[in-house]
Amino acid sequence: MSNVDRIAGVLVEHALVGPLSGVGGKHCRKCPDVDGLDWIRHVTAKIDAELQPVIETVEQLDALPPGSVVLEAMGRYGDFLGITTIPGVFHKFPAPVEGWYVVAGHGARESTSIELPARVLYTPEADHG
Ligand SMILES: [Zn+2]
Repeated sequence: MSNVDRIAGVLVEHALVGPLSGVGGKHCRKCPDVDGLDWIRHVTAKIDAELQPVIETVEQLDALPPGSVVLEAMGRYGDFLGITTIPGVFHKFPAPVEGWYVVAGHGARESTSIELPARVLYTPEADHG
């Protein structure tokens, strides 16, 4: 699914509905408590979350398609035995080398050792959802 299709899906799901004239009385189709005046920020936040979701669980991480790229949380930033450490960026590869590989480095990690929440930086359009 392309990013354009994903954005269109969010716009259809969270369409602004209500009286035909003016903004008054309009609300989000899916979230009736969001009125017309708040709709633009509401729907753009939904699009942002669709394109670059924040990953909170290992299960969500494992569900991402091969080719996805994530930036882990800032928890690894700091000093470790005198060496400055930074959060990792990982690229998910398919079998037979399946795993999350450090970008611009060596080594692989299990999903359980990537610090969450992680921010999705890239998902391949063709294989998503
Ligand atoms: Zn909504």
